[in-house]
Order: sequence, then structure tokens, then C-alpha cells
Amino acid sequence: MTATAHALVAGVIAKSVPDTATASMLAIASHYIMDSIPHWDFGTNWRARSKTTTGMLAIADTITAFTVAYILFAGKVGVVPITIVTVASLLPDWLETPWYILFAHQKKHEPGPRAGILERIAYAVYKIPNAFHAKAQFPLGIFTQIATVAFFWILLR
Ligand SMILES: [Zn+2]
Repeated sequence: MTATAHALVAGVIAKSVPDTATASMLAIASHYIMDSIPHWDFGTNWRARSKTTTGMLAIADTITAFTVAYILFAGKVGVVPITIVTVASLLPDWLETPWYILFAHQKKHEPGPRAGILERIAYAVYKIPNAFHAKAQFPLGIFTQIATVAFFWILLR
């Protein structure tokens, strides 16, 4: 899902679970639960865009995520806890970025037969969480995302 959706859920987790370490673990778990619901994000059709464009969208999404988290939750849970829990909620996606940035390209879906060890590690780290990743197209994939965030907000209120 988008970083902003993950951060919105991280915020309610941080608000309802005062212990930052526990909240961070739950935020990481929430990432995988959310990504298993069919959704659209900036990674969905990345092969149809330039990697630079996808990178810029991802950075903009991450900045939005932190901005929204700070506006909504920093006053309630504190700047440091909300930063840690938001980072935790985004961590699974950051672990995937070396594969995207360094190795993947439009026509390449997996390491070639002569790939080096770093490329194979980057691919494995990318592939494991992606087993959970369910995709849906825009705009349906946006609605499922809003519904998921709303579900967590109601659940954790
Ligand atoms: Zn993800």
C-alpha cells in the first residue's frame, strides 16, 4: 500500500499502544496484513513508468506519510515515538528498494543466471514480503486502501 496508508495505521497503533517497542512490532505486522489486501500503490505498474518517476513518487509518498503522521499524532504520542513507529510501518517496503533501485528494470523480473551474490540477496529480500502482496488496479485499489485504513482506525479507537 502507499506509505501514507501505512503511516495512518501506524499512527493509530502508536496512539493505542503506549509502549513504542510493542507498537513498532505491531506496525511491522500491520504492513504485511495491509499489503495482503488487494490494493494499488506506486509499485503496482512501475514497469510502465521510468524508474526515476517511480522513485520521485515514492519519495513524495514517504514525505506525505511522515507529514500526515506528525500532524495527526505527534501531539498525542510525541515526535520520537511517532517517528519510530512510522519508520517501522514502512520498513518492509524499504527493504525491497535495493532490488528495485540497483537491479530490476523494465524487462527484468528476476536475477539472471550470472547474477552476483548481492543481487541474489536483494532479490530474496524483495521476494519474501512480496509473497503477501496482493495487487488491484486504480481506482478500485485506492478504495480497498481507504477501507483498510478506516477498519484499523475503528478497530483501534
Ligand atoms: Zn509494502
